[in-house]
Amino acid sequence: MVVATEVTKQVVARQLLENAEERLRLAIEATGIGNWDLDLVDDDLINSPKLAIIFGLDPEDKINEKQLRDMIHPEDRHIALKAFKKAIKTGVYLYEARIVWADGSTHWIRTTGKVIYDDQHKPLSMLGTTNDITERRHDEIMKNDFIAIASHELKTPLTSLKAYTQILASKAKKANDQFFIGALEKCEKQINKMTRLIYGFLDMSKIESGKMQLNTQSFDISALITEVVADNLFMDEGHNLIFKSNGIIHINADKEKIVQVLNNLISNGIKYSAKGSAITITTLVKGRNLKVSVKDKGIGLKLKDQQTIFQRFYRVDNETTRGSSGFGIGLYLSAEIIKLHHGKIGVESQEGKGSEFYFLLPLPV
Ligand code: ADP
Repeated sequence: MVVATEVTKQVVARQLLENAEERLRLAIEATGIGNWDLDLVDDDLINSPKLAIIFGLDPEDKINEKQLRDMIHPEDRHIALKAFKKAIKTGVYLYEARIVWADGSTHWIRTTGKVIYDDQHKPLSMLGTTNDITERRHDEIMKNDFIAIASHELKTPLTSLKAYTQILASKAKKANDQFFIGALEKCEKQINKMTRLIYGFLDMSKIESGKMQLNTQSFDISALITEVVADNLFMDEGHNLIFKSNGIIHINADKEKIVQVLNNLISNGIKYSAKGSAITITTLVKGRNLKVSVKDKGIGLKLKDQQTIFQRFYRVDNETTRGSSGFGIGLYLSAEIIKLHHGKIGVESQEGKGSEFYFLLPLPV
């Protein structure tokens, strides 16, 4: 009798667990997310019906791992492979990629997963979910196209506006008309600001569509920083810009894009620190890298913001940022540009004391 009761208890417990698992599985399926369980020892895959649907297959189909891998768009296979290798090391699996259905249509998926290890840290299996993000990706593509077209269209009138302002400025100088000289200088500064903004949007759409390319050449970074500092002094005379040159340092990089990064870091230093305070730019050769730093004595950043400011559209929400213009794309673009150069960007900061933004670029061998 005692044995029978024990067994009944176990059966009830197992049934409860199975019911709970089934309910969870149904709940996940209802959200439109497919789930899977991959045995890393014998590559056996268990998939939910929704996963099969996401891959354009019959819900009853049992899919194997190779089949899924082969359906990933050939241009995106390296993304999935990289994510898989990273997952084995870190335990976290995450990627977005295109897949091609049997009918030839292309769809976007987002896969997330977690690796389960044994006591010796040997990976045993991976559990995860996959969802169809085609609609979201299409919306993003449309938004990017719109930004690209609008920015491109704004470039032409702005260029002619700048040219006419410069002609007027030279006439005003000849006539020694102080009022016009001052007013046109202000016009030019605003046009320059707007030009930077528009080029920023154009670059963002290029990055998003993977079309940003580097035009690499060898140049002296010290001479370049001197030029950029002079330009920024023209735009803003209220700060004390200091560049401590370390002599000629040749690097191989895209000059225009490095100018963009420097302009962004310097103009942020200006924007987020009090008038009259110092902004110091330094270069340092560290092993095989060049380190360029832009240090200000401004409002600084909280630790949590330091981790997110390089994300697209991220702006810290405080009194100063609310009062200053910006879209939160400058640092995102800078980070992407440095990434394309196989470099590193970062920040060290203390709230209320100031920030030091820096980037590292590999030196030519
Ligand atoms: P924007 O300045 O146009 O908003 P950025 O991408 O250049 O965009 O910067 C993102 C955010 O990071 C800013 O909104 C600001 O909150 C913060 N930030 C950037 N540079 C500094 C700095 N030097 N000091 C303090 N906060 C900064």
